[in-house]
Amino acid sequence: MMQMQITKLLVPKEKYNIKCPYEMTPEFIVIHNTENDASAKAEISYMIGNNNKVSFHCAVDDERVVQGVEFNRNTWNAGDGSNGSGNRKGIAIEICYSKSGGEKFQEAERLAAEYTAILLKKYGWGIDKVKKHQDFSGKYCPRRTLDNGWDKFINMVKNYMKDKPIDNNIESGSDEPVRTYQNGSTSENVYADTDCTKKIGSLNPREKCDCFGIFNDRAMVRYQVDGTNNYKIGFCKWTDGVK
Ligand SMILES: [Zn+2]
Repeated sequence: MMQMQITKLLVPKEKYNIKCPYEMTPEFIVIHNTENDASAKAEISYMIGNNNKVSFHCAVDDERVVQGVEFNRNTWNAGDGSNGSGNRKGIAIEICYSKSGGEKFQEAERLAAEYTAILLKKYGWGIDKVKKHQDFSGKYCPRRTLDNGWDKFINMVKNYMKDKPIDNNIESGSDEPVRTYQNGSTSENVYADTDCTKKIGSLNPREKCDCFGIFNDRAMVRYQVDGTNNYKIGFCKWTDGVK
């Protein structure tokens, strides 16, 4: 089968109490649309970077699956309360680029269907284990997927279940290694976005932190906020610090 790019940008343990407080044995998959036009890495970095009680396991765009929470932790995805089965038993998958749709969304939806089929096989589940957010709360989500026809998505998943062999190495074999960012001799601003319109913090001279690579010519870093146990993810203009 085609190599599927799966990248883990996991929520730091310090934030488990906000993002994924409960242990979970997954029982099904919950499909969402993001209602944004952002990439999977941006969706996950935003989700694990903020302190809102909103979370999901994976975001899928036209290039890759990005996982932010391990499947043995719950996420706040389904809007069905702290004991709701969507929030406590579902693997939440967000399909990116659903706001405007178009080719990027179509490809993201296709990749999400393929990944969903892989998960069904991994857990030994049937197609009935694919749920939509709407099944757990009144929300019309995954909106664009529903507009296009839920059965169409389900049929795509079914086809991938038929055609593709299981690739057991997919999770351990294709993670991008986390790199290091070492700041230079001056303090470096960290921005929420790669356009660098919103400053969210800064790195001290020579400060070291995790780096997830370069996106749109910016280094994506995860750094500890001064004097706290909180981590933030953002983008730096100076990319020579990526080691
Ligand atoms: Zn949703």
